[in-house]
Amino acid sequence: MHTTDLDKSVNVNEVSHEVYELISNLYPLCRSITGDGLRKTLHILQQYIPLAMHEVPTGTQVFDWTVPREWNIRDAYIKNSAGEKIVDFRKSNLHVLNYSTPIHTKMPLDDLKAHLFTLPDRPDWVPYRTSYYKENWGFCLSHNQLLELKDEEYEVYIDSSLEDGHLSYGEYYIKGEKEDEVLISCHACHPSLANDNLSGIALATFLAKHLSQISPSFSYRFIFIPGTIGSITWLAQNETHVDKIKHGLVLTCLGDTGKSHYKKSRRGDAEIDKAVIHVLKQSNQDYEIQEFSPYGYDERQFCSPGFNLPVGCFMRSPHGTYPQYHTSADNLDLVQPQALADSLNKILSIIQILENNRKYVNQNPKCEPQLGKRGLYSAIGGLTDTKKTEMAMLWILNLSDGDHTLLDISEKSCLEFDLIKKTADTLRQFDLLKEQVAISY
Ligand code: ZN
Repeated sequence: MHTTDLDKSVNVNEVSHEVYELISNLYPLCRSITGDGLRKTLHILQQYIPLAMHEVPTGTQVFDWTVPREWNIRDAYIKNSAGEKIVDFRKSNLHVLNYSTPIHTKMPLDDLKAHLFTLPDRPDWVPYRTSYYKENWGFCLSHNQLLELKDEEYEVYIDSSLEDGHLSYGEYYIKGEKEDEVLISCHACHPSLANDNLSGIALATFLAKHLSQISPSFSYRFIFIPGTIGSITWLAQNETHVDKIKHGLVLTCLGDTGKSHYKKSRRGDAEIDKAVIHVLKQSNQDYEIQEFSPYGYDERQFCSPGFNLPVGCFMRSPHGTYPQYHTSADNLDLVQPQALADSLNKILSIIQILENNRKYVNQNPKCEPQLGKRGLYSAIGGLTDTKKTEMAMLWILNLSDGDHTLLDISEKSCLEFDLIKKTADTLRQFDLLKEQVAISY
């Protein structure tokens, strides 16, 4: 029988520094929902995993949406009347309203102000703003800088293009023992924002790299997509085989030092929901579980009623709840290798459960089997906590009626999944358990 012990086979601390390095490499690129920044990001990921690139033409109908024109930007600035660049895209790509149309003109401060975005509450930070579906142009800057602008004429220049092209996304499929799939999705459309977007991308990349080196039981599908329009496009193009998806996670905001959060799938009681909650409970750390809501990341699309896939969202600080969210302060200081390592550890534990969660049938269901006679006590004698293991045996034998999974048993017995799994392996070796084979039609 196939068992996977994947959380033992990776040096998480070492990997977290590589994850951080990837975040640093991706950080300067000006990503958007389409265009070369997104494409370049996916090409960089191809240095780690053999990501398949998909290009969907502008104008393609995807359910109620249409793939937009492709946006590219080369340069942008505001110059004062002395000809000095006071806002410069080359210093930070957040300075430009993402999806700005091209412009080159001169205007007084009063007119310019309608196109400037700041954060009065956080006067040192530059906001991140977009205008994907309404044509506009604009600049983002710190509120302190805005207050210092003199009443003079400014030259504004945005060298961008909005033309028919493609929406790019990356996909990596790892074939497991069975065709049933685990979907891992992350958005890759934000420019220089480290926690929101890059932490999820980088962790997903290393998770994929790791899973490709073992032979998992499930098949895994990793998608790196622009937010909203990307998941809608992907679902429209893959509608016929989404029923293979048995579990799924959207990964985002996983590098800050806030506590872990899990937003449940729309189903609310899917196995992925139970697995994540179990891992968080067992972590001995503070955490928070959120019920599903139709706002957030791409779980909104995966959990739309026409799909209702078992996909939840795993994160540390959720969007909108930390002050640095969607600002220039979501930078390389906000994400920390130890927080990335902790997130990766939890994700590996979640996958460890998905990979090993099974239903068994007790082969000696009438009264308890005599454990001593079978040498089971000596089989577990070497384990540090014999009493705990004995309890695990009794729970497994009692609840292995074909209805309860190992995770259910772990929950009911308040014993950690790993112990339940290992004890079940032992009971199986002693012919006291048989796997309940799922019947599929
Ligand atoms: Zn965001």
